[in-house]
Amino acid sequence: MDTFGIPNGYVDEEGVKWVKSRCFFCSINCAILVGVKDDKIVKMRPNEEHGTLLCERIGENGERAIKFHYHPKRVNYALKRAGERGENKWEQIPYDQALDEIAEKLEKLKKEYGPETLGVIEGTYRSDHLWARSRFTNLWGNPGTLADPGTVCWCWMFTVNMAVVGNQIETTLTPGVENSKCLVVWGCRINERFSPKGYVNRVLKACTEDEETRVIVVDPVMIDAVRNADVYLQVRPGTDLAMMLGWCNVILSEGLYHKDMLAQWSNGPFLVRMDNGKLLRETDIAKSPWENEQRQVKGTGKTLSHGIPKKGDRPYGYRPRTNTALRASKMRWKVNMK
Ligand code: SF4
Repeated sequence: MDTFGIPNGYVDEEGVKWVKSRCFFCSINCAILVGVKDDKIVKMRPNEEHGTLLCERIGENGERAIKFHYHPKRVNYALKRAGERGENKWEQIPYDQALDEIAEKLEKLKKEYGPETLGVIEGTYRSDHLWARSRFTNLWGNPGTLADPGTVCWCWMFTVNMAVVGNQIETTLTPGVENSKCLVVWGCRINERFSPKGYVNRVLKACTEDEETRVIVVDPVMIDAVRNADVYLQVRPGTDLAMMLGWCNVILSEGLYHKDMLAQWSNGPFLVRMDNGKLLRETDIAKSPWENEQRQVKGTGKTLSHGIPKKGDRPYGYRPRTNTALRASKMRWKVNMK
């Protein structure tokens, strides 16, 4: 079936309804179409609009994912121990009951030992609900005791990806990155982690086959991606940051950056407070800058007349508009603080 451009909810001649979704069997999260008939998933197809290929993990028609989803041994209900610990006897209970009983026990433990008594640990499948669990433990008063593979290998990467490029570039890659003339694989075993059919691996392959594109691999270990790299930088563990700062210095001082990319998609232009090293926020400034920008933000001798932060930027920091953003990434500005 040609899936290019079919609308969400399209019903084919066999009565299968096709719903747009994403695969969560690895963190590439390929765009897929899920075929539903009689309220059951019957097959899956790649969403060709996104250039997806269903990989061997889930099967060409998603058969492995469907088997997983409906596997009789999958725990889809709240189960309560019915016998002694270790007897493996369980009774199925409604979720409301499970939540009430858990809440009651947690409150008791919290009163007796404090919120730090709760430790939360999970396996790698799939850590996508990490945000919800973190939110819960934060509200409960204990943000600290989380153990999750994601906190070691993924969350920091996700956070940096979102802050710098606004996308989880490591696994999904920003559309258009295949047109880049230089791809840097830094501390990421793309080939080993993801299927060759995964988008990120196909882009890497295309870049290594394109004579004009340079591929730089930075890793203390000679990972598989090194095979086809133009440059392999075997950093000493712990020296990555020094090298990144060195690169930033050269890229900025020699003007090697893409201006629009830096201004629109990175946090480079955010102003950093000299007194505490934090990003300047709207709430730090004496008066809302979009009320009277002329009076609020002054550059060295000149008024930063375009320095109005976009409203969407406010949770993250103060971003001058594009035409001042590039100057802001290199200069110091005087700002009237509260
Ligand atoms: S590469 Fe395979 S497992 Fe990963 S998201 Fe895509 S289809 Fe799913």
